[in-house]
Parts: sequence; C-alpha cells; structure tokens
Amino acid sequence: MANIQSQFNKFHDVIKTDFDDNKPLRDQRDLIIDNLRCGLKKLIPRNTPTFSYFNQGSYDLATGVIPLSGEDYDIDVGIIFKFSQSSYQPVEVKQWVYNALKIGSRTVEIKRPCVRVQYQQNAAKWFHIDLAIYSTERDYLGKEKYYIAKGFIDSHEEKKFWEISEPSKLKELLKSKIADSSDRDQFRRIIRYLKRWKDYKFVAGRPTGIALTACCYNLFMPQKNYLYNSFPYPYDDLKALQIVVDGMIKMFSWKNQISVKLPVEPYNDLFEKMTHNQKESMKTKLLDLQAILISASNELEPSDACIKLRKVFGSDFPIS
Ligand SMILES: [Mg+2]
Repeated sequence: MANIQSQFNKFHDVIKTDFDDNKPLRDQRDLIIDNLRCGLKKLIPRNTPTFSYFNQGSYDLATGVIPLSGEDYDIDVGIIFKFSQSSYQPVEVKQWVYNALKIGSRTVEIKRPCVRVQYQQNAAKWFHIDLAIYSTERDYLGKEKYYIAKGFIDSHEEKKFWEISEPSKLKELLKSKIADSSDRDQFRRIIRYLKRWKDYKFVAGRPTGIALTACCYNLFMPQKNYLYNSFPYPYDDLKALQIVVDGMIKMFSWKNQISVKLPVEPYNDLFEKMTHNQKESMKTKLLDLQAILISASNELEPSDACIKLRKVFGSDFPIS
C-alpha cells in the first residue's frame, strides 16, 4: 500500500484559500464594511444604526477552497445590527444595506438569506460577498440571541421574517467535538477535498459546502498511520476521507434520499434544495468516489495511486 500523505498535503496547499493568503479579497471585504458604515450614515443621519461584523461560512471555519475556472469566490460576512428584531422589518433593513452599497456600477442584489455584492474581473465573475443581516437582543436570561433577516422585497409577507440563528456556534461545536487542533486540521482538509471533488465532478445540482461540512461534522474520525515508526504518527487523510465517504453513502435512504440537519439553529435540512434526481446522482458520484479511493489505496506505487485520484479531484492533485 503506497503512502501518499505528502501528495494529499500538497493538494491541500494548492486548493485552500483564506483571508490570510488572499489580501485582495480581505481588502474588498474591508472596503464594503466601510462603505456600509458611511452609506448608512447618509441614509439615516439621525440615530444611524450601528453594527459589528464577523466572517462566517468557510472563511470563519477555515474550510474555503479556490474555485475552479468559471466559478467565483464565495465570501460570507455577518452584519449584526444592535437592535431587537421587533424594531424593524427584516426586508427594510436589507434595503438599507442594499441602498448603502449600491454605488456607481456596483452589482448589488437582495437574496433571500443575504445581500450579495458581485465583483467582476476581466468581464468574468471574480468573487461575491454575501452579507447576512442579523439583529440581536438579550433573552430573559441575559443571553444574546441572533435573528437573520429573510425574504425578498416582493416576497409574500409570511416569507419575510427574522429567523433565529446561531452564527458562531458551529465553530464552537467543532472545537468541543474535535478537541485536538491537529485533528481539526485534518477535519478541515477532508472538507476541502470533498468541496473540490464537488466542484470538479458536478455540473449542476451539487451539494452545498455547508451540507458537506455538516456530513463531515457527523462522520469524521481522525486517522493516523501507525505503520510508520515515526512519532508523532503521521496523519492518514486517505483513510479519514474513506470513512466520511462510506458514512455519507450509508446516510442515503432505500429511496436514495439524504437529509442532514445543520447542527445549530435553525436546524434546517441542508439537502432540501436538491431534487430527488440530484440526490440520486450525488449517491452515484459518491459510490464512484468510494471505488476510486479503494483502488488508490490498493496501489503499491504512489504515482499510480495519485493518477487514480486525479479522476475524482482533477489535475491539481499532484502525481509526485
Ligand atoms: Mg455565500
């Protein structure tokens, strides 16, 4: 059995992205926050609403991957307004954000869960920033509660609401579930491999990054290679990935359906937007991934194993 952990590590270095190594994106995020502060002041000069912000999604969890060509970076930022959800209508607040940011030819769009700012470079999509809008208040125990603004301008009234949300709790759960920070690094690598697999193998109807993340959250177990006489024992990402993929396949019902809940409020099903057929096709792709991982793990030569893995991860997977 070939040892290809060093190739997995190289692959991870090539596909990962975060704000630490992407200054242009970080700068754009800061500019947007600045524009939002100034814009709100102009729109609402008296008692201008104040907010704090935080990274959320893959930039918060450190699970982001570089998009393949034709795709763009997805940056998620949470904006927390310091007023109670009963003070303003959710879509009204989203409209402030929209108006504050709609400067010049900038593309801004109100989406159901966020306000999106889209950036182009050389006439192609470069990245978008999704601003999730929250209000916050303390409950009767003094605990901070967050509500996310949902709905479009012309949604039905019952589709516009403040929805309870726990935006920073997923990270806390992860930390307590996988206490060792090196084990958590392996967990993040596994998520990134699966995200790149998803980007490479799906045309449409792909699972979301957060759905894959929740699957890993439920299934991941740290794996090391104890065959080597070196201490500390090296990690075995191939084995850890196999365990997650096997587990995901077992999560499908006999009708080939899958549902996984977000482990925090509002506990929604993260596969709910995929159709029956898309879920079925995802299972087929997972079975294919499972077969490739088995056959790669049976190879004696590292380069033979890597050539097989390129079928599921693309040419960013190194051969040596
Ligand atoms: Mg997003």
